[in-house]
Amino acid sequence: MKGPAARAAELRRLIERANSAYYVLDKPEMSDAEYDRLFRELQELEATHPELRTPDSPTQRVGAEPATAFKKHRHLVPMLSLANAFNEAELAEWEDRNARLVPEVRAAGYTLEVKIDGAAVSLTYEKGLFVVGATRGNGLVGEDVTANLRTVIDVPLRLTGKGWPKLMEVRGEVYFSKSRFAQLNREREQAGEPMFANPRNAAAGSLRQLDPKITRSRGLQIFCFHIEAPGQKLPAATQHELLEQLTAWGFPVEQHHTLVPDLPHANTDITRLEQLLPTLDYGADGVVVKVNPITLHAELGTVGNREPRWAIARKFAPEVQITKLKEIRINVGRTGALNPYAVLEPVEIGGVTVTTATLHNFDLIEAKDIREGDWVEVTRAGEVIPQVLGPVRERRTGKERKFKRPERCPVCHAKVEYPADEVMAYCSNVSCPGRILESIVHFAAVMDIRGLGYERVRALLDAKLIKDVADLYELTPIQLLTLDGFAEKSAQQLVDAIQASKQQPLSTLLHALGLRHVGAQVAKLLARHFGTMKALRNASPEEIGKIRGVGSANGHPPVALPSEGGRADRGGGRARGRQRVEEDHRPRRRCGRGVEAREGQGARHLGHRRGGTLAPRTGQTLSWRPR
Ligand SMILES: [Zn+2]
Repeated sequence: MKGPAARAAELRRLIERANSAYYVLDKPEMSDAEYDRLFRELQELEATHPELRTPDSPTQRVGAEPATAFKKHRHLVPMLSLANAFNEAELAEWEDRNARLVPEVRAAGYTLEVKIDGAAVSLTYEKGLFVVGATRGNGLVGEDVTANLRTVIDVPLRLTGKGWPKLMEVRGEVYFSKSRFAQLNREREQAGEPMFANPRNAAAGSLRQLDPKITRSRGLQIFCFHIEAPGQKLPAATQHELLEQLTAWGFPVEQHHTLVPDLPHANTDITRLEQLLPTLDYGADGVVVKVNPITLHAELGTVGNREPRWAIARKFAPEVQITKLKEIRINVGRTGALNPYAVLEPVEIGGVTVTTATLHNFDLIEAKDIREGDWVEVTRAGEVIPQVLGPVRERRTGKERKFKRPERCPVCHAKVEYPADEVMAYCSNVSCPGRILESIVHFAAVMDIRGLGYERVRALLDAKLIKDVADLYELTPIQLLTLDGFAEKSAQQLVDAIQASKQQPLSTLLHALGLRHVGAQVAKLLARHFGTMKALRNASPEEIGKIRGVGSANGHPPVALPSEGGRADRGGGRARGRQRVEEDHRPRRRCGRGVEAREGQGARHLGHRRGGTLAPRTGQTLSWRPR
């Protein structure tokens, strides 16, 4: 019988090897049951001998306790972003520019790597041990998400092989496989939670969960492709060797990378890779072309310390497919805008099955003469929202039905308004159930209220338990139990999630309220500038318009003020629901404390408008546990 220390070391080695075989090499060499048995043995051993629990132990992948906030992490070397080339000509221009600085680049060779569409991270290794993992942040400073990255199963905690620099940052891209992403969204839909828009956002969001157990449950993966080790010698002279070295040390490296002698060969290979990308189980939005010899990287340098000259992303035009448009339907958005969309014969685009696509607005449908029953070209803009490009007129049979603009709202049958200066049409009814539903679902998604998706919001509205977002904060578990689909536990969970959302910062709240022209970015600027809802409400439109980035850059008037209910509304009506919510952000003397919705405690006071007293838990710091 071996000593416990030796056995623990052996188990760690066996388990990590099995992990690597399974996740990195994609060749499982151990049954799940065997793996579980070894894993449990190691857990038990570490429980009896806590001194044997090392930071690189695979048991530490299960996730540490939730953090309250992320520390900032300054990258040893800034994380750069890549310039894009959208065609061969742009790629040739890139080479020409480089050759003017360093003529050898033309014959130095290029590596081509699949560009993973995920969230960029930096992994710091000291003496071969994973010590810090950080998000990209602004490139100079990111967030320390070490505990979360430990749960990413194919991040090596201890490197294999030898020859690594004592201190190095390994750069990679954390991503969801397409299959895992689809599964994740199915799970969220069933749980009534807001679905993720795309794998990239889902990856970034999952990485920034304060509770590492949530990150772990999501099933992220990583590909690595770059090393920074300032002042130290790398055991690789070229990018191609570096990728092989990363693999030898145990890092997952995307396997379709190639080495080509020059740009004409690169173009041939890029064409081949373009066909391949849609068949992969992970989102890839292009090919990264890198000058192969690493010595030339330093010579070429960077553009404004922002983009390296030695690498560029060759992006592809989005895939287009043809399918049948079965029907044109209209959804009422949270601003009352009528959003026409196409119901399609299911078609696969970029590895995702598309059944609906946006038609943007009625003008566009008419300009392109898109008819029900048409064969249409469909694409996914930015790989996210599918859209109809136009009809294939040659395939018309004469049975297609021309589109007619609605005069009445499809949800509440109120008159539809067509403002002369806008392409959008609007339902004139400010309490149109369609827009209230959308605005509450949007609010829940932005405020990250888990468990509050379309179905549940609809049920709450139907049961008249809520009329607006402010009502959410007064819901009790007992009320929820009167609805279908709630048990004691799920009712309490939803109430807890709603209450926890009071901890969201002011910027998130502003975005969540869905004020016209206030997206996430403008909300951030406003929150940063004013700090409190009170200061914002007291500000004049001129003052708001003067804030950099908020003004009428895109032809919109400056932000519609919350004091106007956020709605320069059509119909002239006041949005009562929304108005009330914002009033609750006014500091209330009756609350008896310095109650201001500050950045960092934005929504805390949403709930106690009626009594004007502090709700029992308000004012104390609620522990933030998204679940
Ligand atoms: Zn309506």
